Amino acid sequence: MARVHPEIYFFGAGAAEGRTGMRDLLGGKGANLAEMASLKLPVPPGFTISTRVCNYFYDHNGKYPRGLAESVAKSVARIEKALGRKFGDSKNPLLVSVRSGARVSMPGMMDTVLNLGLTDESVAGLEAVSGNPRFAWDSYRRFCQMYGDVVLRLKPEDKNDRDPFEGLIERKKTARGVREDIDLSVDDLKELVAEFRDLIRTRIGRDIPQDPREQLWEAIGAVFGSWNNERAVSYRKFNNIPGDWGTAVTVQSMVFGNLGSDCATGVAFTRDPSTGEKGIYGEFLPNAQGEDVVAGIRTPLQISLAAGRKWAQFEGLSEADRAARFATLEEGFPAVYKDLLKIANRLEKHFRDMQDLEFTVERGRLFMLQTRTGKRTAAAAVRAAVEMADERLIDRRAALMRVEPIQLEQLLHPRLDPKFEKVVIARGLPASPGAVYGEVVFSADEAVIVHQAGRPVILVRIETSPEDIHGMQVAQGILTARGGMTSHAAVVARGMGKCCVAGCGALDIDYTGGALKVGDRVIRRGEYITLDGSTGEVMAGRVPTVQPEMSDYFRKFMKWADQERDLGVRANADTPADASAAIEFGAEGIGLCRTEHMFFGPGRIEAVREMILAENAEQRARALDKIIPIQRADFVTILRKMAGKPVTIRLLDPPLHEFLPKDDEEIGKLAADMGADPHRLRQICANLVEVNPMLGHRGSRLGISHPEIYRAQARAILEAALELRREGVNAMPEIMLPLIGERKEFEFLAAQIREVGREILGKSKTKLSYQIGTMIEVPRACMEADQIAAVADFFSFGTNDLTQMTYGLSRDDSVKFLDDYLQRGVYKKDPFQELDPDGVGDLMRIGIERGRKANKKIKIGICGEHGGDPASVKLCHRLGLDYVSCSPFRLPIARLAAAQASIEGRKSKREFKDI
Ligand code: ADP
Ligand code: MG
Ligand code: MG
Repeated sequence: MARVHPEIYFFGAGAAEGRTGMRDLLGGKGANLAEMASLKLPVPPGFTISTRVCNYFYDHNGKYPRGLAESVAKSVARIEKALGRKFGDSKNPLLVSVRSGARVSMPGMMDTVLNLGLTDESVAGLEAVSGNPRFAWDSYRRFCQMYGDVVLRLKPEDKNDRDPFEGLIERKKTARGVREDIDLSVDDLKELVAEFRDLIRTRIGRDIPQDPREQLWEAIGAVFGSWNNERAVSYRKFNNIPGDWGTAVTVQSMVFGNLGSDCATGVAFTRDPSTGEKGIYGEFLPNAQGEDVVAGIRTPLQISLAAGRKWAQFEGLSEADRAARFATLEEGFPAVYKDLLKIANRLEKHFRDMQDLEFTVERGRLFMLQTRTGKRTAAAAVRAAVEMADERLIDRRAALMRVEPIQLEQLLHPRLDPKFEKVVIARGLPASPGAVYGEVVFSADEAVIVHQAGRPVILVRIETSPEDIHGMQVAQGILTARGGMTSHAAVVARGMGKCCVAGCGALDIDYTGGALKVGDRVIRRGEYITLDGSTGEVMAGRVPTVQPEMSDYFRKFMKWADQERDLGVRANADTPADASAAIEFGAEGIGLCRTEHMFFGPGRIEAVREMILAENAEQRARALDKIIPIQRADFVTILRKMAGKPVTIRLLDPPLHEFLPKDDEEIGKLAADMGADPHRLRQICANLVEVNPMLGHRGSRLGISHPEIYRAQARAILEAALELRREGVNAMPEIMLPLIGERKEFEFLAAQIREVGREILGKSKTKLSYQIGTMIEVPRACMEADQIAAVADFFSFGTNDLTQMTYGLSRDDSVKFLDDYLQRGVYKKDPFQELDPDGVGDLMRIGIERGRKANKKIKIGICGEHGGDPASVKLCHRLGLDYVSCSPFRLPIARLAAAQASIEGRKSKREFKDI
């Protein structure tokens, strides 16, 4: 085939000019249609106009490149030749769809027009040539509806209103006393077409063009235009998709799933997108078209018999009832089912990943309309990756690259506490797992308001549409009354890793009244409900949650990750409970144990206050004598839990005033306890207040002013460790000095600690080795790293403070304006979430280089919040850190990100490259 235009790619009849690697140009949909055509799968012929034309379109005020018009005409002629039908012919018209498709899938965000080419004249032709007037008028009514919506932009006047076309259909059904679209007669459909066009004429002031070529060009323009519609823009922002990618437009000959009961349309996955279980999984509707399945117009049917039975059981239907009323594709269309299985297998092998397919059956013949990598829950992603590796479809490294580290968080989602008695008020489909509770709201905008007020929210909708995205993003969970497992709500929620219960038919939702009714029960806006996305249960009130167990697939997957990674992983853990979680989630040590909380507990704070308010070293030592035994006991439990693994304990960091009484009443009480003068106490407290506490008397500066504080802490740590060693428990403490910026600071404090060490260990027969190191969180420490490393055993980058001080940006105060920076694109990322690779990263590089030069054996890690952020973990790998430390629940994320960093670093990319 000779190309007709550099920006147009034809496909069909067993050949194609494009291929799957050309997504950037053809969009995912266009590229994969071409690939399927090359594989000689049954794909209706068509052509794709490249994304470059979209960019041209936007750069040139809606104009097209030279020669495009002629080339589109030639390409249409090629379709005509392949099918023996003519576009615009009034007797046997060729109809096409005009489809959008970006580089990455943006499900439902952009627009598509079906049955294009129909006119008042050709609808009669279609009627005659098909011998099926119902089909012809159903197609025309769909065309008018989509053209009115997509091209002429006739939208509801208020966001909460129904789609005006759907409203007319609803009215017609009521008038005729029928429940479903397919029950409308030919005359009803004819009337609907007239009503649609009246509505369009009144609201838009023009009619649908009766020239198919004009229809085609208007639709192409509208689809390019849909790249910048509100919901697409919002989706891109949320998913970090650049605005300059553009969409491709695919013009494809129509096949018809609405020609009768031997026709159907459906969607299928090659593995279950919720669990990852291998086997075809999906839904279809006989005698239907396009989005009918997804839109939840009728109850969709299951594809495989096995899934059909499971579904019936879930719905409480008898097998006989199910077989009679809800026959699966496997039963109703056995030959098509076989073909579909074959094709699904072939595509999965070809693309080496789970596929999400769209298909149509026309008079018993299967046609493929789309294939793409299937979105899946985290549990499904892990299981599918493990099983695909076990099936040798991919290798282990490829399997590890298949799961987004951040997705793992979903697996660690809490589930409902089984001990708690829950009141189940309704049950829908378990569309996306997780257990959440929140305030009921009925619109996306309300969801945002409640979220901004800091309260958890559940978005309740009859069904969701792309207009609801911003509400779904901030909601804890989503509940819909309509739609199946492949409905908009279900697909989007799974993609977001959000809990979703869909198609809960028992709900009677009243948007205007702000209430939801189930039987006699009424739940109003603002009341709490709980959702269980794994069972589909909806409960009144708040049901407490517990932590989940890890599946065997997950364990296996994490084992592979551990074999691959070079970075060590530790946890930030302050309490024995944290330490248990750390071990459970695979920590190889504790990278940060903060001692502050040990000062706060009941019965402790008084002693701490005495210490702070002491007027001389003697008084202070007396107060500390009360604190040491308590701290020692804490250290014993944590060090025992972490036996054989290093535990980095940071000495007191926050400024002292944080521990002080807050008001006169507290001061009075403390004075009475201490037998001190309240007036004097108030004065001391006032003296401790700082203008800029972040840069004030904190961290090692406390140790310099009051060495007895750090000496006491060191004593508690070393005595605890020694006690355990005597029992034969391998305690491995590492004492960490915060906020060091100068070698002498470190030397002075390390000398104090060693002196305490000698006092304790000197007379003991049991040996104990311990290390002393520092946090690197002041820029100066990076520059002076060689000096400090010469006397320190380890460095741990405290990247929260380091980021704060490198940017000169207070983490607490910047929340007020950081969003402006992100909104205006001045910062790409929030530097407190994702480690800044440039400024902060460079300081770290300098610190590491200089530190290692002066002390080859120095161990270097990171203990800021960044330690659990995948991009930051990857940066740490490239910087050559020894380990990252993060909160226990982020450990699996860090382990996987570290493994991926190692794999990416090895540059053996060919093996896992996405096809
Ligand atoms: P989206 O990107 O929103 O999924 P699509 O372009 O895939 O939009 O179109 C939606 C649906 O319309 C498809 O799933 C398919 O069922 C139907 N469709 C699109 N093109 C055709 C066609 N040429 N013939 C029959 N059905 C089509
Ligand atoms: Mg599609
Ligand atoms: Mg700090």
